[in-house]
Amino acid sequence: MKPENSFRSVRGKILKVSDEYLNLPSEDYRTRMERCPLCFNPGRRVLQVTVSNHVYPEDWKLLMDGFRFCSGNACQMIYFNNATATYFLKSEIKTRFGPKEDEGPKPICYCLSVLEEDIRYEILKKNCCDSLQDIEEFTKAGTGKWCLTTNPSGRCCRDYLGDVVDKFLRMKETAGVKTTLNRIRHDLDGPSAEKQVYLSVKGMTCDSCVTHVSATIEKMGGRNVKVSLKDQDAVFLLPSDTKPDEIAVALTETGYESNVVEKSRTK
Ligand SMILES: [Zn+2]
Repeated sequence: MKPENSFRSVRGKILKVSDEYLNLPSEDYRTRMERCPLCFNPGRRVLQVTVSNHVYPEDWKLLMDGFRFCSGNACQMIYFNNATATYFLKSEIKTRFGPKEDEGPKPICYCLSVLEEDIRYEILKKNCCDSLQDIEEFTKAGTGKWCLTTNPSGRCCRDYLGDVVDKFLRMKETAGVKTTLNRIRHDLDGPSAEKQVYLSVKGMTCDSCVTHVSATIEKMGGRNVKVSLKDQDAVFLLPSDTKPDEIAVALTETGYESNVVEKSRTK
């Protein structure tokens, strides 16, 4: 077995090899080849064409068959080849791999240049998208054809997209509890006199936006809601004990800048 200090990255960084890896029996050649020396997760085979697309040209001479991609999200290793003792840390290649990064930009879909931040915006801010299908439709993430070379892992971006979408949908669910509570409060208070309310609503770009704006207004007690994409506004009935401002603020928080319009509209 090699002594620990012989493990160096391609830029000469001394690697802190895990005890599990160091203690592997020498006859267990297969495990020694397939595990990441740092995190001990099994690496996934990647083709040379994938690796060469992400390492710097000066490192191309180090490339040969047998590289693996370390899929441990917390691990600094990105590509390793235990047969040739060639180790690329994530900081030593050109491409950022979103799932291994703590801070943005965190690329998720490389073919269509979609960042985790874009998906967060669609789900949590714009509130347009409720599923993986929506996200694919609006951001085009996961619909590219060149993942083998554009994604550092050599796998399809969709493999990662699902986890990211799930994460933000769960966050949105938590936020949704607040609006549900408002609605329950309203139901308990019972029906009361209604007034007509006009809001300007900026930033709606599609029918999904209209649906979302309507749903938000309804959740907060609005009735007979009419949202116009063309006029960028909304008209509805609201119980007189609910402040129209609260709805404008709620819409603004979800990414649609909204204000109460005092003047009556003739329609
Ligand atoms: Zn690793």
